[in-house]
Order: sequence, then structure tokens, then C-alpha cells
Amino acid sequence: MPDIRLKALFFICVLSTVCLFIWLISTALIALLVFAVGLLFYIGGHISWLHKLQTWFKNPDLNNLPEGSGVWEGLFATLLKYERNNINNQKQLNAALERFNLTANAIPDGLILLSPNNEIEWCTPNAEAQLGLDLKTDRNLPIVNLVRDRLFIAHLYNEDYSEPFKLKSWRNPEVLYEIHLIALATKQKLMICRDMTQLEKVDSMRRDFIANVSHELRTPLTVVGGFLETLSDTEGAVPDHFKNYFNLMSEQTFRMRRIIEDLLMLSTIESNIDEPDDTEVDMTKLMKQIQNDALGLSQSLYKIKHKIELSIDSELNILGAQNELQSAFTNLVSNAVRYTPKGGNIRITWSALNDQAIFSVIDSGIGIEQQHIHRLTERFYRVDRGRSRETGGTGLGLSIVKHILIRHQAKLEITSEVDVGSTFCVLFPKTRVVKKKSVVEA
Ligand code: ADP
Repeated sequence: MPDIRLKALFFICVLSTVCLFIWLISTALIALLVFAVGLLFYIGGHISWLHKLQTWFKNPDLNNLPEGSGVWEGLFATLLKYERNNINNQKQLNAALERFNLTANAIPDGLILLSPNNEIEWCTPNAEAQLGLDLKTDRNLPIVNLVRDRLFIAHLYNEDYSEPFKLKSWRNPEVLYEIHLIALATKQKLMICRDMTQLEKVDSMRRDFIANVSHELRTPLTVVGGFLETLSDTEGAVPDHFKNYFNLMSEQTFRMRRIIEDLLMLSTIESNIDEPDDTEVDMTKLMKQIQNDALGLSQSLYKIKHKIELSIDSELNILGAQNELQSAFTNLVSNAVRYTPKGGNIRITWSALNDQAIFSVIDSGIGIEQQHIHRLTERFYRVDRGRSRETGGTGLGLSIVKHILIRHQAKLEITSEVDVGSTFCVLFPKTRVVKKKSVVEA
């Protein structure tokens, strides 16, 4: 396309030459008049094309685009090319969008896109059906206005989405959803809602089976254990050369009873999807009790007590189920005792971190190799099977801890170094933390 400035310069030069020539053969006034009329025609021509362009922009149809002349011909040709590219890009975008919508709608899980302020930006029809949403009316509404489950709201604001959240349908209590939240780089969140009803039924059958078997075994084992104990305690009832076998039988019966108790506890906690009590747990009292129990365990296992220190922020309490939390903390502290050689140091702390609260157990024990750490909360996973058995372990302790913490929206963090020691930290969300007004002495 020729440069419009060159064309204008060329026109003015030609017009000026003609006017100069007219001036030579006639008067200056006529020459000036011709110059003005020429300029007027030139500007008028451009104004007319500008007008056509403006009219076309009001209804930009490729078939109506004027052809133009002079510089306008090139301009309109370029515009035509841009418009064609634009239409092609638009078609490609529409096709991609349609493909995306088809794929997203075919996914059986419900997908919801949340804004950084947790408002619904977009969702699939499956999500609408699962959560009773209507994108037309609910777009830009906060998700917490529509999914009013208290624990879901706590999970959403907690911003730790490493574990999925189980949500009972409020329209049909038989239906159970698993909610996965994924934080996107744009600060938006992708919420995936999966119907777990069938899987949950199978899982619940498995849990019931384990619970029933454990329950059925409990009575015979108690009877066998009781008789073994009575026989061992009765003078002359067991010949001396059989006493060793009797002791072994008693030990193993006792071990089986403990495994059964832990299995029953695990299945009770796992199958309980109701939220735990929200009673305020007096952490100062609880910590002291746990310290005493740990000293007792240390004495019974090693005869020499460990050094067990307590550091408590006495202004801090927690909302939750006292018995569950006590069981989780006791498990962590008893592990520290059992996996720390005699005379070692154990430090139990309870403190605030910003709005959250941290319970931690730090020991100077045998430590754990890195490759085992992510598997420790699996049922029956043990790094050192021999030591676990010797010290009365069942291999279920950390599994129980994990499930109790999930129920309290808390997170377990484990760091460890072999032969140096381990740290087990439990991080509670701010929704569970109670800051006492008056300071109570620890
Ligand atoms: P167990 O009854 O065997 O202790 P847990 O579930 O409580 O079962 O722990 C799982 C495994 O994690 C243990 O067998 C042990 O190998 C390891 N473990 C747990 N706590 C500690 C700790 N404080 N120091 C070293 N190892 C630990």
C-alpha cells in the first residue's frame, strides 16, 4: 500500500505546479482559487471514503466492504484481510470452546470454577445437578451461600487442599460426594465434585466386615486371655517346663487384643462422617495428663524414664472431640517414647502460629529414613517391625492419628533424621483455635 503522506505530497506538488502555471498565464487570484478548489475536492474525496468506512463499521459485513480507490483501495483490502483472519480465529475459538464444553460436560464428576473470592464463575451441568446449582442465577454468588455445610466452609477457608473433603448431600443423605479443591495459578479454584456413594457403600461393607470380625474375636480372645492368666497365676496349675509357653501365649493373646481394639477404633473413626463435637478442650490439662502417661510408659518399657519436657501456650485451646484428640496426641507421644532409646529427650509443645495452632512432639530417637515418611500413616506400615512389636506397637497408631486429624481439618507434618530424631507436628486451622482471654498458668 503506497504511503498516504507521499500521495498527499505528490498531489499538493502537482496542484501547486498547475496553480503556478495558471498564475504565469493569468492572475494570482485565479491561481489561488484553483488551488483552494483542488484542495477542497481532495479533502472532500477523503471525507466521503471516511464516511463509507464509518457506515461499514456500524454493520461490518465482509460482502458490503467498499472497494475504495487510491490509498483507500489498499486500506480496504487490508481491512478485508484482517476481518477474514478475525472471522477464522473466531471460528477456531468457538470450535475449541465447543470441544471443551463437550469434554467437560462428558466428565461424570461435577466441575466448578471459583473466583479468588470463592464466587461461582462457571460449572458443568453435572455440578449443577449434584449441588443443586443453577449457573444462570447462581453465577457470581459465593459458593458458601449455596453449599452451607459448616465443615465444607472451614475446609474451603483453610486453604490446605491436600486431602479431599467428604460432603453428604443435603438433598439425599444417602448420597456422598468427595470434594477436591485445586488452587490455580490465577488464584481461582477448581472444585471437583465426585459421587462416592457406590464406592462408599463398598468401603463401608469392608469397614463393617473388619469391625464385625474384630468384635467377634474380642470375646473369645478375652476368655482365652483370662484363662491363661488364671492358670499362670494358680500355683502348681502349670508345670514349670510349660510356664514359658504359657507366658508366650499370654503375650500374644494380649497383642491380638490390642490389635483388635485398634482395628475397632480405626473403623469407628473412619466410618464416622459426622462432624466431631465442638467442645473446648483444655489443652493445658490434657498436655499434663499426656506427659504423665508418657512418663509411665517410659518407666514400664525402659525402667529409666526419658526426659519429657512440656512447653504450653496456656492461652490457647482447641475445639474438637476431647477423646479423639487425646488418643491422637497420646499415640504421637507414646511413639516418641517407644522409638527413643532410654534416657533420650522428648519435647512436647503446644503453641500458636499466626491464627493457627501447632501441637508438636520432638524426640531424640532412632529417626526414620526419608523413603518411609510418606507411608507411615498406612495401616500396618512399620519401618522397624521388630521394635514396633517389642514395644507393644500394633502398626495402626498413625493411621488412627491421620483419621482423627482429617476429622478436625488438621494436618500432620513429619520430619526426621536417622539417629538424630523425629518431629511430628499437627497443624490446626484457625477455625478450631480458641484464644483464652485470661492467662492460665501451665
Ligand atoms: P506402631 O504401632 O508400629 O508404632 P504406628 O502407626 O504408630 O505403628 O507407627 C508406624 C511406624 O512409624 C512405626 O512402626 C515406626 O516404624 C514409625 N514411627 C512412628 N513414630 C516414630 C518415631 N517417633 N520415631 C521413629 N519411628 C517412628
